[in-house]
Amino acid sequence: MVQLSDGIDTLYENRKKFIIIGLTGRTGSGCSSAAQILSKSVENITLPKPKLCGESNDRKYKIIYDFAQNNWEQFHWIQIKTIITSFILDNPYVDFEDYVSKTLATATLPKDVIREQLQKTIKDKYISLHKKRDELNKSRKKLEASNTIKKDQIEARREKSYDFYFKTLPVFTNELKETLNILSGNSYTKVYQLIGDNIRSSGKAFDSHFNAKNIYRISIRVNKIIKIFTKRAKKNKDNVYIVIDTFRNPFEAIFFRERYAAFYLLSINTKNAHREHRLKKMLSLTDDQLTEIDEKEGEQSYNDEKFFISQNIPKCIELSDIHINNPHVAEDDFSTLKKQLAWYVSLIMHPGLIAPSREERCMQMAYNAKLASGCLSRQVGATIANESNSIQAIGWNDPAHGQSPCLLRNVKDLINSEDTGVYSKYEKNNKKFRDELKRKYEKALADPNLVKKLCGRNVSYCFKKIQNEVDKKKNKGGNQVYTRSLHAEENAFLQIVKYGGAGIKGGKLYTTASPCELCSKKAYQLGIKDIIYIDPYPGIAKDHILRIGTEAPKLTLFHGAIGRAYNQLFEPVIPYKDELEMILSKK
Ligand SMILES: [Zn+2]
Ligand SMILES: [Zn+2]
Repeated sequence: MVQLSDGIDTLYENRKKFIIIGLTGRTGSGCSSAAQILSKSVENITLPKPKLCGESNDRKYKIIYDFAQNNWEQFHWIQIKTIITSFILDNPYVDFEDYVSKTLATATLPKDVIREQLQKTIKDKYISLHKKRDELNKSRKKLEASNTIKKDQIEARREKSYDFYFKTLPVFTNELKETLNILSGNSYTKVYQLIGDNIRSSGKAFDSHFNAKNIYRISIRVNKIIKIFTKRAKKNKDNVYIVIDTFRNPFEAIFFRERYAAFYLLSINTKNAHREHRLKKMLSLTDDQLTEIDEKEGEQSYNDEKFFISQNIPKCIELSDIHINNPHVAEDDFSTLKKQLAWYVSLIMHPGLIAPSREERCMQMAYNAKLASGCLSRQVGATIANESNSIQAIGWNDPAHGQSPCLLRNVKDLINSEDTGVYSKYEKNNKKFRDELKRKYEKALADPNLVKKLCGRNVSYCFKKIQNEVDKKKNKGGNQVYTRSLHAEENAFLQIVKYGGAGIKGGKLYTTASPCELCSKKAYQLGIKDIIYIDPYPGIAKDHILRIGTEAPKLTLFHGAIGRAYNQLFEPVIPYKDELEMILSKK
């Protein structure tokens, strides 16, 4: 008998054999909880039971539930922090003690006390693991140098590496964490953050000298471990399901995205109030410590090497393929999180199993629209739907129709008075402005070395940035008004006015960022009832402009698949009808 259903299995093999999930999110939003759920067997997750109440979402979840019960596989957990530990262990114990005591010493916590504490708790274990790591390195070099390598030697070594990375290191990392936190509440976070930055700079745990070739150092080591894991899985005829927790540097996420079609970055988000509740309760953090974390994890803009090596969680969230919501329902209740993880892992394994939600569909339109923006600093897209969820307009941030976006303009043209049609009278004539522009660009563009580095790139410029430099003394924080572009939300609203259309009172606004103060006012005045947004870092717009008065709109943090993941998860491999036909046929 011909097994047609085997053919279907073959078609889905690639999807099911290899999945890498990366997690990102703010501290306290629930990345570790998500990783824990992913690394459980389906019996131990206890997914919430589906209930059919006539809603299409319930029907969708029932399909997901049944699929997950039959197909779910445990993920293996790689923690970035254990990789950082492996870099620490590359060094002898004395170097570690020196670095930690130097880094953490304060007036009330002298170096000697730190040294003593480390010697008492962690020294012996450290030395034995450093030795173990040395041996692993030596055996690798020996194998590489030998010309009569035996297969079982390689496999034995691989098994040792596997144990080291997946068993020994996680345990030791927790011991280190406890030891460091005895010294003071946030010592561990501080030391590991600095060492992470060091590795991305120098490739070494205790050296902060920047060399660009080391930016991906941590990712490369994670990738090595994935390869060890994959070879081992192949031998054991296992599938490769890996979750990497937590991405805090956007370039590390990009590294994996460029390498693996089956890499998905998931952001775990939660309302700020819920986050704070968790952090205060579980980690007993003080308000000051919370503020410190928020500052470090907030919007970042760097002009130096920190741009490459520092953590930048807003950027990581912006890059995410799938946004997951982790609300605080009740203590230790992760039912919403579990449901969504089952939902998206099932779709990764079997795209098109269910169709996108209305929110995903509308947000994806906003996402596609944002890529049309010619803004140099940030692309944003927006969709407006009316009360009945019918889409009325889309918009992206761009200057008014008839003006050229920044991306298509060129500093040299402006300085040399060429292509004059796309520059304003002010840009062409204002002396202060032109002086500032020349100060920033003229010398650089005359430097042959820099021109070579540009390598053919168009040198466009951001008007807002230069004008805020001109105004520096007047206006310290920089003025939003100077942007040449209309905002995406604004543009979408105006499309309706410009070309005529039905009213949007009671309607919905989807934005790939979060509405600014100015757009929030417009949304409020237009009678928008729902604002769905991705960026969990709104300014004061939410609390100041939107949470006031009698017509306040409802604000919802978006959850769902977006961007390339939208296509990867919802485009069926083959028509579902054919699939069932093949499986059920008795030929
Ligand atoms: Zn711009
Ligand atoms: Zn705006």
